[in-house]
Amino acid sequence: MNDDLFSAASIPLPPPSEEQRIAELRREIDRHNELYYAKAKPEISDREYDRLLAELISLERRHPELASADSPSQRVGGRPLAEFQPYEHIIPMQSLENTYAKGEVIEFDAMVRGLLGVDALDYVVEPKIDGLAFAAHYEDGLLVAAATRGSGQVGDDVTANARTIAALPLTIPTTAAFFEVRGEIYMPKKAFLALTEEQVERGEDPFKNPRNAAAGSMKLLDPRQVARRPLDVVLYATGRVDGVPEPATHADLVERLRSLGFPVPPRTWLCHGIAEVLEAIDALERLRHDFPFEMDGAVVKVNDRALYRKLGSTAKAPRWARAYKYAPEQAETVVEAITVQVGLTGVLTPVAELRTVRVCGSDISRATLHNEDEIRRKDLRIGDHVLVEKAGEVIPAIAAVLADKRTGMEIPFAMPSACPECGAPVSRLPDEVAVRCTNALCPAQRTARLLHFASRNALDIEGLGDRVAQALVDQNLVTVPLDLFDLSEPLLAALEFEPGEAEAAAPASADAPMQLSLLGDAGPAGGKRRKLGALNARTILHAIRRSRDLPLARWIFALGIPNVGSTVADDLARLHADFNAFADSPLLADSLRLYELMDEADRNNPNTQRVR
Ligand SMILES: [Zn+2]
Repeated sequence: MNDDLFSAASIPLPPPSEEQRIAELRREIDRHNELYYAKAKPEISDREYDRLLAELISLERRHPELASADSPSQRVGGRPLAEFQPYEHIIPMQSLENTYAKGEVIEFDAMVRGLLGVDALDYVVEPKIDGLAFAAHYEDGLLVAAATRGSGQVGDDVTANARTIAALPLTIPTTAAFFEVRGEIYMPKKAFLALTEEQVERGEDPFKNPRNAAAGSMKLLDPRQVARRPLDVVLYATGRVDGVPEPATHADLVERLRSLGFPVPPRTWLCHGIAEVLEAIDALERLRHDFPFEMDGAVVKVNDRALYRKLGSTAKAPRWARAYKYAPEQAETVVEAITVQVGLTGVLTPVAELRTVRVCGSDISRATLHNEDEIRRKDLRIGDHVLVEKAGEVIPAIAAVLADKRTGMEIPFAMPSACPECGAPVSRLPDEVAVRCTNALCPAQRTARLLHFASRNALDIEGLGDRVAQALVDQNLVTVPLDLFDLSEPLLAALEFEPGEAEAAAPASADAPMQLSLLGDAGPAGGKRRKLGALNARTILHAIRRSRDLPLARWIFALGIPNVGSTVADDLARLHADFNAFADSPLLADSLRLYELMDEADRNNPNTQRVR
């Protein structure tokens, strides 16, 4: 027998069909990533996407010889680091000089034209994203490194973490031997809202704004944890590029980045002369709240890139660009009271009840204060004049206490020693900032769990707002959320509840507007008890029936298990066939413990510096 033939036959080569399938899946998943992240036009559901990815991962496990660093399956994974390695930037990453008045933008234009000796210039205006500046390097089209800006000369090597950001391409279709892109890592405003709610329930100090959330996430040493954080990117510049000609203008550069598959600023304005720049700055400000990222200003760049070398830069910033910062949207009001809400895991959250004031286009009458420490840090007292804003443009927050407006009549706040809802004693674990009600049967916790169960990201039970939930719990019709499935239409139609004011500003009562429409059906609100009525009962029961067909992950999330947010729920759902398999799973018990351990490690590892 021929030796060569024999040894070749002993290697279990994959059947050609599986090898082809792996290549096909990688192409498909890359294409869907691009549709979803760069074009925002997904063609398949998240569930179908997950199925493709799961198939790819299982095929790759069977064929380790076909492993490839640029496979989309490589985005999640990697080992935790002891610390970040410093990364020296090839070309320093400068930040932009800020301006705060239109007059300064006009001076900038005059300065640039003076240096160049020209009468008029073209500029590009684009949003200034409030995220974490970073650079990514591609060699022969393959992502090989990513680093934060850091000092501008030296940043942190965050390659493993950056690989987990699905919107950042692992490969780009370029012939450039070396291609460096620059941009911003950010946490979308909606994801920031969900993350802070989870952090409060876990008894942690929540991130103060999306920028801190993005920076804190990228500082986690375990890429698997970073992969759980919903981070996104926008790219708007290049650094060193070898082997391809550079675009002549900034507008062309943005187009090239887009064609390579990078997410780019969703709106840019090409402006002929400074007057158009000022108009674009105003147009951008009007769109301020429509972007998925938090934006704090406009960036004005000279369009002709050949002029960059002529203009050069100062020690800190390039001369060919300026940032124009919009005024922060804040309003002054008075803290009329501080009340305490009880959440689904029993966490007591102090809430400032405010004299209603308009900020970012909506009325604010309440602002969460997160925990006792936060109130002490701010030295906030009942009766104080305060400035309010919307953190990440979504969460009403107290930005500053105006202490010089005090009259001496202000009252310091003390956390109650008993649950305001059930009177049970409260406790505070030594390593948590949260105070919790110790009564597992606390009606406020039951109501909160029921509301969570019915919320949009859980089972989306339309019509089940906070007043209805409270009535169901108070009248002992629902003890645990699953009792909802035993409700009959006549019983629900006859349910009497207390109509109340909408509490639109508080994140916990996102269902309030729904509740208002219910009140409309039931007659004017007059503080008297109302019957729910057959129509509303049918709406709720229909939504309950429909929820049976929702994916397992939504069900797991709906249960409101401590430390199981939507991302963990997704992970758990992938590993279980159905709800019964999940409920019986030893993995459930183990993973609850695992996430506790991960949190503990997080707290005890001095290298895991979260930006608060
Ligand atoms: Zn209680």
